[in-house]
Amino acid sequence: MPGKPARPKKKNERTLNFWERLYLPEVFKGLGYSFRKMQQPSYTLQYPEEQWYPPDSYRGRPVLVEEEGRPRCVSCNLCARACPPMAIAMQSREMEGAKEREPEWFEINMLRCIYCGYCEEVCPEEAIVMSKEYDLTFQSRDEAVFGLERLLMPAERLKDRFDWLEAYKDRQFGEQWDFQRENNVHSLKDRSFLASLAEEIRSDAETPAEPARDTE
Ligand code: SF4
Ligand code: SF4
Repeated sequence: MPGKPARPKKKNERTLNFWERLYLPEVFKGLGYSFRKMQQPSYTLQYPEEQWYPPDSYRGRPVLVEEEGRPRCVSCNLCARACPPMAIAMQSREMEGAKEREPEWFEINMLRCIYCGYCEEVCPEEAIVMSKEYDLTFQSRDEAVFGLERLLMPAERLKDRFDWLEAYKDRQFGEQWDFQRENNVHSLKDRSFLASLAEEIRSDAETPAEPARDTE
Protein backbone atom coordinates (compact mmCIF):
# COMPACT_ATOMS: atom_id res chain seq x y z
CA MET A 1 0.00 0.00 0.00
CA PRO A 2 1.56 3.29 -1.04
CA GLY A 3 2.48 5.52 1.86
CA LYS A 4 2.35 9.28 2.19
CA PRO A 5 5.45 11.03 0.73
CA ALA A 6 7.84 12.22 3.44
CA ARG A 7 8.25 15.63 1.76
CA PRO A 8 5.38 16.62 -0.47
CA LYS A 9 6.39 18.42 -3.64
CA LYS A 10 6.22 22.19 -3.44
CA LYS A 11 4.04 24.12 -5.83
CA ASN A 12 6.79 25.57 -8.04
CA GLU A 13 9.39 22.81 -7.53
CA ARG A 14 11.22 21.70 -10.72
CA THR A 15 11.22 18.02 -11.66
CA LEU A 16 14.75 16.57 -12.08
CA ASN A 17 15.48 14.99 -15.44
CA PHE A 18 16.99 11.51 -15.83
CA TRP A 19 20.66 12.63 -15.75
CA GLU A 20 20.06 14.90 -12.79
CA ARG A 21 18.48 12.03 -10.90
CA LEU A 22 21.58 9.92 -11.65
CA TYR A 23 23.80 12.56 -9.88
CA LEU A 24 26.94 11.13 -11.55
CA PRO A 25 27.24 13.82 -14.26
CA GLU A 26 27.15 16.51 -11.55
CA VAL A 27 29.78 14.63 -9.53
CA PHE A 28 32.11 14.48 -12.57
CA LYS A 29 31.45 18.14 -13.33
CA GLY A 30 32.55 18.99 -9.77
CA LEU A 31 35.67 16.83 -10.10
CA GLY A 32 36.51 18.50 -13.42
CA TYR A 33 36.22 21.93 -11.79
CA SER A 34 38.55 20.83 -8.97
CA PHE A 35 41.16 19.48 -11.41
CA ARG A 36 41.02 22.70 -13.46
CA LYS A 37 41.62 24.77 -10.30
CA MET A 38 44.57 22.55 -9.34
CA GLN A 39 46.38 23.69 -12.51
CA GLN A 40 45.96 27.37 -11.62
CA PRO A 41 48.18 29.40 -9.25
CA SER A 42 47.28 28.93 -5.59
CA TYR A 43 45.93 31.80 -3.46
CA THR A 44 46.92 30.08 -0.24
CA LEU A 45 50.13 31.20 1.46
CA GLN A 46 52.17 28.78 3.53
CA TYR A 47 52.30 31.20 6.45
CA PRO A 48 54.61 31.92 8.29
CA GLU A 49 57.25 30.67 5.80
CA GLU A 50 55.52 32.74 3.10
CA GLN A 51 54.62 36.25 4.21
CA TRP A 52 51.83 38.42 2.86
CA TYR A 53 52.77 42.01 1.99
CA PRO A 54 49.66 44.17 2.37
CA PRO A 55 48.83 47.16 0.16
CA ASP A 56 49.69 50.69 1.35
CA SER A 57 46.07 51.29 2.39
CA TYR A 58 46.22 48.40 4.88
CA ARG A 59 45.71 49.22 8.58
CA GLY A 60 48.09 47.06 10.57
CA ARG A 61 49.23 47.86 14.08
CA PRO A 62 49.66 51.58 14.85
CA VAL A 63 53.27 52.71 15.31
CA LEU A 64 54.99 55.92 16.37
CA VAL A 65 57.22 57.64 13.84
CA GLU A 66 60.86 57.90 14.88
CA GLU A 67 63.02 60.69 13.44
CA GLU A 68 66.71 61.03 14.26
CA GLY A 69 66.28 58.64 17.15
CA ARG A 70 63.40 60.57 18.78
CA PRO A 71 59.63 60.25 18.54
CA ARG A 72 58.03 62.77 16.18
CA CYS A 73 55.09 62.89 18.63
CA VAL A 74 54.54 66.18 20.52
CA SER A 75 52.41 64.46 23.15
CA CYS A 76 49.28 66.51 22.46
CA ASN A 77 47.00 63.64 23.54
CA LEU A 78 44.63 63.97 20.58
CA CYS A 79 45.05 60.36 19.51
CA ALA A 80 44.24 59.13 23.00
CA ARG A 81 41.05 61.20 23.06
CA ALA A 82 39.95 59.99 19.64
CA CYS A 83 40.69 56.31 20.30
CA PRO A 84 37.27 54.59 20.62
CA PRO A 85 38.36 51.66 22.88
CA MET A 86 40.67 53.93 24.93
CA ALA A 87 43.72 51.91 24.04
CA ILE A 88 46.24 54.78 24.16
CA ALA A 89 47.82 56.27 27.26
CA MET A 90 50.74 58.65 27.59
CA GLN A 91 52.59 61.06 29.82
CA SER A 92 54.29 64.07 28.32
CA ARG A 93 57.45 65.89 29.40
CA GLU A 94 58.83 69.29 28.47
CA MET A 95 62.03 69.52 26.50
CA GLU A 96 64.35 72.15 25.09
CA GLY A 97 63.99 73.14 21.45
CA ALA A 98 61.23 73.96 18.99
CA LYS A 99 59.21 70.86 19.79
CA GLU A 100 58.80 71.72 23.50
CA ARG A 101 57.11 68.44 24.44
CA GLU A 102 57.44 64.76 23.77
CA PRO A 103 56.08 61.64 25.44
CA GLU A 104 57.84 60.46 28.57
CA TRP A 105 56.01 57.19 28.11
CA PHE A 106 53.47 56.20 25.52
CA GLU A 107 51.49 52.98 25.53
CA ILE A 108 49.00 51.26 23.26
CA ASN A 109 47.11 48.29 24.61
CA MET A 110 47.00 46.01 21.59
CA LEU A 111 44.29 43.87 23.17
CA ARG A 112 42.04 46.93 23.01
CA CYS A 113 43.12 48.33 19.66
CA ILE A 114 40.57 47.76 16.91
CA TYR A 115 42.82 49.02 14.09
CA CYS A 116 40.34 51.76 13.21
CA GLY A 117 43.04 54.30 12.29
CA TYR A 118 41.36 57.22 14.10
CA CYS A 119 44.61 57.99 15.95
CA GLU A 120 46.35 58.36 12.61
CA GLU A 121 43.54 60.54 11.23
CA VAL A 122 43.58 63.06 14.09
CA CYS A 123 47.32 63.32 14.67
CA PRO A 124 48.40 66.84 13.63
CA GLU A 125 52.04 65.77 13.25
CA GLU A 126 51.62 62.51 11.33
CA ALA A 127 53.45 61.03 14.28
CA ILE A 128 51.30 57.91 14.64
CA VAL A 129 50.50 55.88 11.55
CA MET A 130 49.11 52.48 10.71
CA SER A 131 51.88 50.09 9.71
CA LYS A 132 51.72 46.92 7.63
CA GLU A 133 52.43 44.67 10.61
CA TYR A 134 49.61 42.25 11.33
CA ASP A 135 51.25 39.26 13.03
CA LEU A 136 51.14 40.08 16.72
CA THR A 137 51.55 37.51 19.46
CA PHE A 138 51.51 37.89 23.22
CA GLN A 139 51.75 35.43 26.05
CA SER A 140 50.17 37.66 28.68
CA ARG A 141 48.03 40.78 28.99
CA ASP A 142 51.05 42.78 30.13
CA GLU A 143 52.96 41.85 26.99
CA ALA A 144 50.12 43.22 24.89
CA VAL A 145 50.72 46.74 26.22
CA PHE A 146 53.31 48.14 23.81
CA GLY A 147 55.57 50.90 25.11
CA LEU A 148 57.82 53.31 23.22
CA GLU A 149 60.45 50.62 22.64
CA ARG A 150 57.98 48.56 20.56
CA LEU A 151 56.00 51.42 19.07
CA LEU A 152 58.80 53.48 17.57
CA MET A 153 59.55 52.77 13.92
CA PRO A 154 62.00 54.75 11.74
CA ALA A 155 60.25 57.14 9.33
CA GLU A 156 62.13 55.61 6.37
CA ARG A 157 60.31 52.31 6.89
CA LEU A 158 56.94 54.07 6.71
CA LYS A 159 57.43 55.91 3.44
CA ASP A 160 54.71 53.89 1.64
CA ARG A 161 52.18 54.88 4.25
CA PHE A 162 53.16 58.56 4.18
CA ASP A 163 52.72 58.59 0.40
CA TRP A 164 49.33 56.95 0.74
CA LEU A 165 48.27 59.45 3.44
CA GLU A 166 49.42 62.31 1.25
CA ALA A 167 47.03 61.12 -1.43
CA TYR A 168 44.03 59.99 0.63
CA LYS A 169 43.99 61.40 4.19
CA ASP A 170 40.82 63.28 5.13
CA ARG A 171 42.21 66.60 6.37
CA GLN A 172 38.80 67.61 7.76
CA PHE A 173 38.52 64.63 10.08
CA GLY A 174 39.57 66.49 13.25
CA GLU A 175 37.07 69.26 12.60
CA GLN A 176 34.21 66.81 12.21
CA TRP A 177 35.03 64.89 15.34
CA ASP A 178 32.47 65.54 18.09
CA PHE A 179 34.40 65.47 21.38
CA GLN A 180 32.45 64.03 24.32
CA ARG A 181 33.78 64.98 27.73
CA GLU A 182 32.62 61.76 29.40
CA ASN A 183 34.67 59.76 26.89
CA ASN A 184 37.85 61.45 27.98
CA VAL A 185 38.83 58.64 30.32
CA HIS A 186 41.58 57.24 28.23
CA SER A 187 44.47 56.75 30.61
CA LEU A 188 44.81 53.20 31.82
CA LYS A 189 47.66 54.04 34.18
CA ASP A 190 46.25 57.15 35.75
CA ARG A 191 43.64 55.51 37.95
CA SER A 192 43.42 58.44 40.39
CA PHE A 193 42.66 60.77 37.48
CA LEU A 194 39.85 58.43 36.38
CA ALA A 195 38.43 58.33 39.91
CA SER A 196 38.48 62.12 40.28
CA LEU A 197 36.94 62.59 36.83
CA ALA A 198 34.15 60.11 37.64
CA GLU A 199 33.51 61.95 40.92
CA GLU A 200 33.39 65.30 39.11
CA ILE A 201 30.92 64.00 36.53
CA ARG A 202 28.76 62.48 39.30
CA SER A 203 28.67 65.72 41.32
CA ASP A 204 27.84 67.70 38.15
CA ALA A 205 24.92 65.38 37.50
CA GLU A 206 23.68 65.66 41.09
CA THR A 207 23.85 69.47 41.23
CA PRO A 208 20.31 70.80 40.66
CA ALA A 209 19.98 73.13 37.71
CA GLU A 210 19.54 76.83 38.59
CA PRO A 211 15.93 78.00 38.30
CA ALA A 212 15.25 80.24 35.33
CA ARG A 213 15.31 83.93 36.28
CA ASP A 214 12.16 85.94 36.09
CA THR A 215 13.03 88.65 33.58
CA GLU A 216 9.83 90.67 34.11
S1 SF4 B 1 43.89 52.21 15.61
FE1 SF4 B 1 41.98 52.91 16.62
S2 SF4 B 1 41.80 51.56 18.38
FE2 SF4 B 1 43.92 51.35 17.68
S3 SF4 B 1 45.06 52.83 18.90
FE3 SF4 B 1 44.46 53.89 17.01
S4 SF4 B 1 42.50 54.91 17.52
FE4 SF4 B 1 42.89 53.37 19.10
S1 SF4 C 1 48.04 62.87 18.20
FE1 SF4 C 1 50.10 62.57 17.33
S2 SF4 C 1 51.36 64.18 18.28
FE2 SF4 C 1 49.48 64.03 19.46
S3 SF4 C 1 49.97 62.58 21.13
FE3 SF4 C 1 49.08 61.36 19.48
S4 SF4 C 1 50.83 60.67 18.28
FE4 SF4 C 1 51.54 62.34 19.55
